[in-house]
Amino acid sequence: MEEKVTIARALEILHTYPILSKTETIPIQDAHNRILAEDIFSLVDNPPFDNSSVDGWAVLASDDQTKRVEISPIFAGEETPPLLKPGQAIRIMTGAPIPPNADALVMVEDGIFGQARPNFIRRKGENIEKGNIALTQSSLLTPSALALLTSVGHASVCVFSKPKISIIPTGDELISPGEKLESGQIYESNSISLTALVTRAGGKPSLSKPINDDLESLRKILDDCASSSDLILTSGGVSMGDRDYIRKLLIEEGEPLFWKVGMKPGGPPIFGMWKGTPLLGLPGNPVSSHVVFLTLVVPWISHSDLFYRKIRARLKSSLKGTPNKTTFRRIKIHSNDEITASTKTHQGSGNIVSMVAHDALSVLPPNIDGEIDELIDALWLID
Ligand code: AMP
Ligand code: MG
Repeated sequence: MEEKVTIARALEILHTYPILSKTETIPIQDAHNRILAEDIFSLVDNPPFDNSSVDGWAVLASDDQTKRVEISPIFAGEETPPLLKPGQAIRIMTGAPIPPNADALVMVEDGIFGQARPNFIRRKGENIEKGNIALTQSSLLTPSALALLTSVGHASVCVFSKPKISIIPTGDELISPGEKLESGQIYESNSISLTALVTRAGGKPSLSKPINDDLESLRKILDDCASSSDLILTSGGVSMGDRDYIRKLLIEEGEPLFWKVGMKPGGPPIFGMWKGTPLLGLPGNPVSSHVVFLTLVVPWISHSDLFYRKIRARLKSSLKGTPNKTTFRRIKIHSNDEITASTKTHQGSGNIVSMVAHDALSVLPPNIDGEIDELIDALWLID
């Protein structure tokens, strides 16, 4: 087992256990936000024929523009009209095919004797030619990507299947939402945020009730989940505490691969295999489990565009860095003349308010503080 790995090394190890491996072919209308499993080639020219980008007239550019004679119109959806004779201007609507010899268009706004504009013809294949690549493997199927797939002739698409992901919150102090809080207890919240994160990541979450810090119960739930899921995410029990049993179990009875990552918050994640299934043990602190999901799980099993944009922001508050760790302080982005960032609440990793009051994470390299007016890297979260 490797200890105290960098984020880059943790991702390298995670990627050797691909969660996105099975694929399925689905109708395009069901493919929003899925991840493409293959390169997509254009089956047709786009556009498929030369056509007009405006309502107006198709003309011969060399004709005398003061002596144009209008002939009967051509509409979108009709077949290519015959050749223009000298002096003729065929009335044309947007999207209609142009006569084969027409080499310019006149806009309806300019009138029939207006300027002839060659650039207003949309040429066959000018967007993408038949046989060319339209989208590459691993692209996120956004609404516009789906429109492109459809435009180049596809009705279905091969995407990665949704991985089944078990979420197991652990801790003696945890109670489920809605129950009465007794002394020493807290409401279990990580499984709620993780379920939402897994769903957005394109996984199928399967949520367990909170499990006590008890070796027997933990072993049993891990065994059950290993046989039914592609990935197990636990929360809690991976740090240095005497009842941090997820760590103990994975190290003593599983195949541990790394423990502790150079990041703050979120230092103690543990990763390994449990009965043949990858298990990532997330720290229990709510901010930590969320940040580890964003930084380790998203690049591993999903597409970062679903979660954040990498930006540069000018600091309006100073940020403390951390020795040997990348620091993800919660920051609030302001985008007026310039993108700036400030902090509003305390930054404790147990303070879930800080995740809601801010909308981005700093990415301070190890040993680096962020000073006021400095430009820093940040992840602007999509919430
Ligand atoms: P642990 O990682 O188990 O040492 O937990 C660290 C901190 O996170 C403790 O204060 C726990 O009470 C808290 N915690 C652990 N699991 C959860 C959870 N599922 N929801 C909310 N807080 C949690
Ligand atoms: Mg605990």
